[in-house]
Amino acid sequence: MNKLLSTTIREVSQKIHDGTVRPSEICKASVKLTSIVKPLNAYITVTNDVAEKQASDADTRQRQNSLLGQLDGIPIAVKDNYCVKNKPTTCASRMLANFSPGYNATVYERLRKQGAVLIGKTNLDEFAMGSGTIDSFYGPTKNVWGSKVLSQFYSCESSPVLTQELHGKDAWCIAGGSSGGSAIAVATGTCYAALGSDTGGSTRNPASYCGLIGLKPTYGLVSRYGLIPLLNSMDVPGILARTVDDTVLILNAIAGSDTADPTTVQREYVPINLSETVDVSNLRIGIPKEYGVQGISEEVQACWDRVSRHLEEAGASIIPVSLPHTNYSIVCYSVLNRCDVASNLACYDGIEYGHRADEWSSTNKLYTKTRSEGFNDVVKGRILVGNYFLLAENYKEYYVKAMKMRRLIAQDFDVLWNNNIDLLLTPTTLTEAPSYNEFAMLDNQTQCLIQDHCTQPANMAGLPAINVPIKLSRRGLPLSLQLMAPLFHEQRLLSIAKWIEQIVQFPKLELKDTCLFE
Ligand code: GLN
Repeated sequence: MNKLLSTTIREVSQKIHDGTVRPSEICKASVKLTSIVKPLNAYITVTNDVAEKQASDADTRQRQNSLLGQLDGIPIAVKDNYCVKNKPTTCASRMLANFSPGYNATVYERLRKQGAVLIGKTNLDEFAMGSGTIDSFYGPTKNVWGSKVLSQFYSCESSPVLTQELHGKDAWCIAGGSSGGSAIAVATGTCYAALGSDTGGSTRNPASYCGLIGLKPTYGLVSRYGLIPLLNSMDVPGILARTVDDTVLILNAIAGSDTADPTTVQREYVPINLSETVDVSNLRIGIPKEYGVQGISEEVQACWDRVSRHLEEAGASIIPVSLPHTNYSIVCYSVLNRCDVASNLACYDGIEYGHRADEWSSTNKLYTKTRSEGFNDVVKGRILVGNYFLLAENYKEYYVKAMKMRRLIAQDFDVLWNNNIDLLLTPTTLTEAPSYNEFAMLDNQTQCLIQDHCTQPANMAGLPAINVPIKLSRRGLPLSLQLMAPLFHEQRLLSIAKWIEQIVQFPKLELKDTCLFE
């Protein structure tokens, strides 16, 4: 069973189909593993009752030879900003700590209909605002890499150094954010894939720090219905998985138009099918100079150079390119983000649902107290600033200006695609995962400026982008790169990601044999 939990959806699904293992056995082991890795705080809610029921239904289908497909009986997890019917959906906030919605997000509903088994709802920065998963009402998520949990329970065939702890008693590395819980849920093997959300990098960033594939699909390809919004025109459901093939299986299950989300594209989704061998020889790959910023670690730079070289040796053309408005992207994002936040979070007033303060003297006082108790400082700060940007006298100065700049940023990409650049290769994050102490020295906003530099422009332009883990750093932490493609070119993006995956052979974590599942 240990090996099975560390393997891929494809392999385990094969075993379910040939009857070697029962979905309920896998589910039981997954749930048990969530308690072993509990110190990492990946889950806000482990939905063991739902999981048991779904797994036993999958057992029945297995017995009756009527399995639904490759996701039937497969454990998954969902970030806690997606609605799951009758289950807490907290956004890692006090405001929604007691909120259980009456409906399912489309993405979860589609996975459920294909037989996937929900292990739990994962931790995040409150309302997905952050880049470290340290600003959660439920406490931070810790990275498994470099942790005590890793040395106790995991091994890695190619790297014995892994089993060492990097830090002292109270120090640990961040998981990245805001979908850090989903990343750790997958990296530790408690599930095979998890949904994150990606507004400025929140799926790719934790994937980079946790050694996973992290896909941000094209805006509009995947429904946002039931995803509690951050910035509506940039939010995209993201996928975290251990391999590109597994990512494709999940994407094929969730993508496609949805009448409940009018921003989904109204064309039929053609499932992606990756071939085993990918030909990169005619590709033109752009290396944007604006992504080689100060602060990029020498090891990330070395990965970037190495993968470019590999591609070149395989016949691809590596072309230095420029995206001149990149440096304005993050500032504009901050403005647009805060404006949407001010508007999206106005509904939490203590009247209809969510936290209600014990305050009865006036409605206004009730609103005030509810909102000051229900939100953390990061959220409150963004609401205040957003309302300032949206004041009648400021609107043109900030919101309209940022929207114009957004257009220019998107046009930078169009110029490259029109010059026959097929893909862009960049870092995802500038370094390996920082330690918590190092990360927490800077505030949420400053960290977002640093952490999202390479990821955020893709959201501005709606482009698909993916994190691919490359190797372990000298200290034994994952180092990763990002690929970006033109709108709706997921097939190309994922094919090249798979090619890189095959070349670099990023080390896989496996549960130790001594670990409780004999
Ligand atoms: N770090 C960015 C923010 O805090 C992006 C977060 C995200 O992608 N959800 O807004």
